Amino acid sequence: MSHPELKGDRCPKCNGSGCVVTKDGSGLPVSASCASCSGTGIVNSPNACPKCKGSGTVEVDTGMFIMENDCDECNGTGLKSK
Ligand SMILES: [Zn+2]
Ligand SMILES: [Zn+2]
Repeated sequence: MSHPELKGDRCPKCNGSGCVVTKDGSGLPVSASCASCSGTGIVNSPNACPKCKGSGTVEVDTGMFIMENDCDECNGTGLKSK
């Protein structure tokens, strides 16, 4: 999930795609959100929301499982509000 409005440098880890392929416990390749850029493909962004780093979602640990909620800092836009 990337935003055309998001400015910054292309993430070198995922090459700007926002996802990386890793291996799960049984060695199968799985696609995961890039940890370096929170799945946005952009790093060092001057206008990304500081809370969700531009992804627009935040992970909430409920104790049972991890949920993704819309970021309340930017209302899910991923952009820093003024
Ligand atoms: Zn990345
Ligand atoms: Zn946010």
